[in-house]
Order: sequence, then structure tokens, then C-alpha cells
Amino acid sequence: MDWDDDDRDTDGPDDESDRVAPCPSCGAEISQEAERCPRCGDWVLDAPAGGGWPLWMKLGAVLALVVVGLWLVGWLLGALA
Ligand SMILES: [Zn+2]
Repeated sequence: MDWDDDDRDTDGPDDESDRVAPCPSCGAEISQEAERCPRCGDWVLDAPAGGGWPLWMKLGAVLALVVVGLWLVGWLLGALA
């Protein structure tokens, strides 16, 4: 058996060994390790699935909240005094 061609049409969702993701530009199923889509040639940016904000942004948001909170407490204490 010679299954040499990589682009045979397998519609089954049971691709366990070869993880694929749809191309954001043309929707073709491409490997997640691929940097460019072989069909449309577009660059594939690896967005974190279900990630959300990166860590530095979360830390920055928390830091900003702490600074604003401290400023508010100081302002309240100054206003009450
Ligand atoms: Zn594509």
C-alpha cells in the first residue's frame, strides 16, 4: 500500500495524530504546525485557543487595578480627614 499523497480528502473528524485547524483565510484544513497555508499561501498566526489575554497583559491589568485602588483609598482617606 502506498498512501503517499498527503492531500486525500478525509472528512472524518478522527484525526488524532495529525492535528489540523481551519485556515483563517480560505478555511482549508491545514496542520497546526504549518506556518503558511499550502492552499492560499496566507500566513497562519497561532492564536491561543481559549487563552484570552497574555500573561503580561493580565499582570498589567492587575497592577493598574491595584494602583487605581490605592489611589482611591488615599483619596477617600484624604477626603474624610
Ligand atoms: Zn488558506
